[in-house]
Amino acid sequence: MKGEGISPDSISYTAVLCACSHMGWIEKGFHYFHSMYDEHRIRPELDHYACMVDLLGRAGLLKEAESFIDSMPMEPDIVIWGTLLGACRVHANAEMGLRVGNMLIESDQNHDGCYILLSNIYAESRKGEDAEEVRNTMRKRKIDQVPGCSLIEVDGVVHEFLAGDRSHEKTEEIYLMWEEITKKIKNYGYNVETRAITFDIEEEEKENVIGYHSEKLALAFGLICTKPGSVIRIVKNIRICNDCHSAMKLVSKLFNRKISVRDRKRTKVWKWKILKIDKLNTSECDQPQRWQDLISTNIFQRAAYMNPFLYCAPLEATKSAS
Ligand SMILES: [Zn+2]
Repeated sequence: MKGEGISPDSISYTAVLCACSHMGWIEKGFHYFHSMYDEHRIRPELDHYACMVDLLGRAGLLKEAESFIDSMPMEPDIVIWGTLLGACRVHANAEMGLRVGNMLIESDQNHDGCYILLSNIYAESRKGEDAEEVRNTMRKRKIDQVPGCSLIEVDGVVHEFLAGDRSHEKTEEIYLMWEEITKKIKNYGYNVETRAITFDIEEEEKENVIGYHSEKLALAFGLICTKPGSVIRIVKNIRICNDCHSAMKLVSKLFNRKISVRDRKRTKVWKWKILKIDKLNTSECDQPQRWQDLISTNIFQRAAYMNPFLYCAPLEATKSAS
């Protein structure tokens, strides 16, 4: 934009700050953040502050992120606190996570994500009773959790899966396929990640709960119904969990398939040949716009029904956490 003599506006800055955050460019992020007002007289808004908290949070600079929030000239909103809470969970800072999470819940926020994050932080700290209490509070306040749902399009038809879904006509094949896949990827070091399950159940049962997440069922269906070597594209209305993340990577290797999952936050593409997970690497994965062109708008409309955030947010300017 500079080269073309075009002045950036506040939306351009959101995109730039978001990019810095994903790349881990802390100094550059602060440089651009300060240049907003210094060079263009654009006052940073809540979205820009959220990007900065995400930038610090991703880098594990949680204390700095909290101080940054304290220094804000306006009241931080739920997105900003939720971003910090998410970072606390990722970086296993239970002390700060519990403090921020409880503060949000006491302030009577009716945002399902805060309850779930807090409950997961308790569960991961082996405090199952506290985790259950958070879930109970959520139920008492009648806050519904958006159910995870994954969509895949095969031959022009959109197939929708919920976790543990058995309503699909190919259910038997799908479950058999996923069981086969699980056996194989375990040989490659896959271990079911059960830490975030709060319920008081045995380890094996936990594997069953997490083992049939909607994107896994969609993936198994995709492997059954698409040509070998073709790309598998899945859209999920909420964020993909760590366990599904690990599983997708190994399935990509084992079946030599490029797998692209568009979740609530971004598109992730696994392609084993390049030996790494690409996040918005346009040379290796489809451009977001083209991606949407490739599959019918049907799939996005249905995902949007499950979670409006998914449909509205342009990829590059996706807000961090909510
Ligand atoms: Zn999952």
